[in-house]
Amino acid sequence: MHGDHADAAKASPVICQPERLLYAYDVWYPVAMANETATTRRGGRQAVFIDRDDTLLDDPGYLREAADVVLLGGAARAIADLRQAGWLVVIVTNQSGIARGLLDEPRLERIHEELRRQLAENGTAVDGIYYCPYLADAPLPAYRQDSDLRKPNPGMLLEAGADLDIDLTTSWMVGDSERDVEAGRRAGCRTVRIHSPKDPATRPASRADAVAQDLAAAARIILGE
Ligand SMILES: [Mg+2]
Repeated sequence: MHGDHADAAKASPVICQPERLLYAYDVWYPVAMANETATTRRGGRQAVFIDRDDTLLDDPGYLREAADVVLLGGAARAIADLRQAGWLVVIVTNQSGIARGLLDEPRLERIHEELRRQLAENGTAVDGIYYCPYLADAPLPAYRQDSDLRKPNPGMLLEAGADLDIDLTTSWMVGDSERDVEAGRRAGCRTVRIHSPKDPATRPASRADAVAQDLAAAARIILGE
């Protein structure tokens, strides 16, 4: 998916393609205009985009080992409930640890294999995993790029939207960081901010549509329970 980094100095392929550019402009319009254009997108599937670290998985700080993959409590069940109700579930994750030389892409793939294995063990799965390995000031030149894929930019959501025929305007983005919320907003999605237990504030300053204590609570909001 993001395998061709050899000469990745310019913006990502997502925004370089004219048809995607039009698409991106459509969803970057303010909500009123987005609703107007959304009629052309109805019929697309609905998705819940979820952040990975501290939303789905325990985050030790740059997860580098498949052996350290630990699903957060209730997360697998939440994904199962969403998919049971007909939602696609797609992981969108910034992985600047790659640009920083902390792990390479084959290792990240092994981590995601383990993640998929644990989800399967819990009777569920995800419909896609999108990651951004880039960083504007990366130590590794191959990954030094101010990428449209890196949240708070919406590139991963736009790419998944095109790949999986997703109606972004009726989809949701869930994450524990305001970067996740911003990426969701820029893609035209509704948003839930996970209030991480590491953050003691009662309600984070957030532009999200809703705040939830964990993925399970976010799923209940999305499912209207
Ligand atoms: Mg996170």
